[in-house]
Amino acid sequence: MNNNIGWQFDNSYARLPDSLYARLNPVSVRAPRLAILNEALAKTLGLNLHSLPEQDAALLFAGNALPDGAQPIAQAYAGHQFGNFTILGDGRAILLGEHITPTNERFDIQLKGSGQTPFSRQGDGRAAIAPMLREYIISEAMHALNIPTTRSLAVVTTGESVIREVALPGAILTRVAASHIRVGTFEYLVRTGNIEGIKTLADHVIQRHYPGLSEADNPYLALLNHVIDRQASLVAKWLLVGFVHGVMNTDNMTISGETIDYGPCAFMDTYDPNTVFSSIDHYGRYRYGKQPDAAQWNLARFAETLLPILHPEQEQAVAIAEKAIHAFPEIFQNYWLAGMRKKLGLFTEEVEDSQLFEILLTWMQGHQADYTHTFHSLASESIPTDDQFNNSAFIEWHTRWQVRLSRQPNSKTSSINLMLANNPAIIPRNHRVEEALATASEQGDYTRVHQLHAAVTNPYADIPEYYAYRTPPPPSDRVYQTFCGT
Ligand code: AMP
Ligand code: MG
Repeated sequence: MNNNIGWQFDNSYARLPDSLYARLNPVSVRAPRLAILNEALAKTLGLNLHSLPEQDAALLFAGNALPDGAQPIAQAYAGHQFGNFTILGDGRAILLGEHITPTNERFDIQLKGSGQTPFSRQGDGRAAIAPMLREYIISEAMHALNIPTTRSLAVVTTGESVIREVALPGAILTRVAASHIRVGTFEYLVRTGNIEGIKTLADHVIQRHYPGLSEADNPYLALLNHVIDRQASLVAKWLLVGFVHGVMNTDNMTISGETIDYGPCAFMDTYDPNTVFSSIDHYGRYRYGKQPDAAQWNLARFAETLLPILHPEQEQAVAIAEKAIHAFPEIFQNYWLAGMRKKLGLFTEEVEDSQLFEILLTWMQGHQADYTHTFHSLASESIPTDDQFNNSAFIEWHTRWQVRLSRQPNSKTSSINLMLANNPAIIPRNHRVEEALATASEQGDYTRVHQLHAAVTNPYADIPEYYAYRTPPPPSDRVYQTFCGT
């Protein structure tokens, strides 16, 4: 296929030992059509999609036509799903290869929903349109919120039906990621007894994501510490915007520190640390406030896989790993506190700050205040005058906060600017996401998808056209449950 759009593939993962993947092409689909295309992302990748006729773009992003230089593979991995170990692998995704951008950045280009692979187990290897659009919209919103994430380049419909409970339009998402290497990729090697492979994969990861670490005294300990740090930072960012991932299984945790796998994920409206959306998370294992614990648990599974290369003596290796894992809560807490300070316009640090934050959150929970709306109101100095805010507990907290602000040397304007840059006006609220996906999936009408996408990718901007997307749902529109749609 015409390679003039700027593909530059260099497939380092496909050069690793072949126990890590299966080579195969995406399964062609009947009648691919472009549903949505991310031109801004294409541009940053150095791809010139304007030169590509729309039908060729549809063939490309459906996997019917392969770009020059692609070496398609399905990656092998395992994972702890809700605590239970399973061998998995790309059951419905194909990695086309690693594209090198003009600024020399390396990105995985993966098709999700591209047909069966040796890892499909009972699955059909396919995806329905709504969940793929959901991943597209939410991943791009996360990127706009400055949260590390995989990106979405395109969604095509396949012209085929996928059978879930009913027949739904099939679709394929093109996912762009720093890499698709997961905690579960390491677990796969351990479980298949490939100890040599652990070192090979760890070296690959260091070279690819953390090149500075190869100079460390113990590069594998440095790797463990870095992955812990990246995940602590990531989960703090999730909490700060009210994001609930929903399926924090070890196969859905990247080594690069990017958010991956937007299944039943959702943003919280009213503040409640026990918020669970996912229909399959029966025990609330991955509820909003439990996400740091879940991340630490996953990181412990990662640390276990590194034991053979952390230290030649097992006892020592275990001690090193435990120490690293035990540091997680404090690292997380520091990222979260730093983020909260920004949300409340604080440049300086005081010991009582965490108390100030907790009192506000407790008040929000007690009064069923909307998380995003409350913070944005504080930032824009537009606290609603309704009953919810007009009570002594809130007023007392507000006074305490104002006194705290006045103790720092920074100007009021600089505080407000800090807050406006850290408190989004718009998040992809569930009721908006559901309504946009329904019209696209059921009527083939993408107007709302485009509007929603435009609004959520400008979360901090003051654009009157998008004001409607700021409002929390009326009680009748609240979404309490989300589904993976796999
Ligand atoms: P996820 O819940 O998306 O993280 O997927 C968990 C595992 O199930 C991964 O190995 C997926 O590749 C696999 N999977 C999900 N949906 C399908 C499907 N329709 N066909 C085959 N495999 C699937
Ligand atoms: Mg997954």
